[in-house]
Amino acid sequence: MKQRVGIIGHPVAHSVSPAFQGAAFDALGLDVTYELWDTPAAALAERLQGLREPACLGANVTIPHKEAVIPFLDELGDEGAQLGAVNTVVNRAGRLVGFNTDAPGFLFALREEAGFDAAGADVLILGAGGAARGLAFALAGAGAARVAIWNRTPARAARLVESLVSRGASAALAQTPGPAGYRLVVNCTSVGMAGGSAPSALPGPVAGADPGTLFVDIVYVPEWTPWLLAARDAGYPTLGGLPMLVRQGALSFGLWTGRSAPVAVMAAAARSALAQRTHD
Ligand code: NAP
Repeated sequence: MKQRVGIIGHPVAHSVSPAFQGAAFDALGLDVTYELWDTPAAALAERLQGLREPACLGANVTIPHKEAVIPFLDELGDEGAQLGAVNTVVNRAGRLVGFNTDAPGFLFALREEAGFDAAGADVLILGAGGAARGLAFALAGAGAARVAIWNRTPARAARLVESLVSRGASAALAQTPGPAGYRLVVNCTSVGMAGGSAPSALPGPVAGADPGTLFVDIVYVPEWTPWLLAARDAGYPTLGGLPMLVRQGALSFGLWTGRSAPVAVMAAAARSALAQRTHD
């Protein structure tokens, strides 16, 4: 029986997940199609109901539905989902289980592709939106010594710090986006994103960072953002957003299929889909 997976969001036409998930299913010889399921809020209940069909393995969930899908699920399968954001749904014989592979995918990319262990590290996160929240909890859970948050809108950063501290994490509000004193600085704003509101701006300064500080930008279009280029040119190690995107997808693939995902195949397909899009 041909099986299906899809991505639920609104809009979803820009997603590169079909390209790299499709490549992964093909590489393992699995008869599964990965579809774009553009779903306005009013159609969410019906879409989730459709996931219970035997031919459906599950779905990815993206903006703006990561929280909104939760009431339609039967179970939350991991801590990220329990924190209120689901990016992966698995159909287990008609029961829908929600997971969040964004944060573990980020930690995986950090470890595997940048050789960075967050345990004991002082970390600065730029941004306080949905991605910043997930990554801040992931880094705290991975044993970071201190997670500092800076955001353009300080009240939002303060709320995130409060919520981290209330769950026992060591977190603080950063007064500036300056990188001095941190081993890891992560851009979780959309600054630097092609097509966004500030594509050529930097989310914060690079100058003044300690030697060896790792700069991570979770923005993946373009692959080399102006901030990452500035960090690289100043001699710092860097990691872009594409490995995180691919690793979260690889973890979702594993949840749907029970198979180990072909990460290199997925990364190549994602890169090629993004390059294709840049040239369209
Ligand atoms: P979000 O919830 O909308 O948060 C956006 C963040 O960016 C907020 O902190 C916002 O600050 C800040 N921001 C936006 N425009 C700004 C500007 N001109 N100057 C300074 N700060 C600005 O978005 P999100 O879901 O967290 O996503 C953030 C970025 O991460 C997006 O580019 C997304 O594509 C990327 N992302 C990548 C991955 C991956 O797998 N690599 C996964 C998830 C997200 P205010 O609070 O002041 O508005």
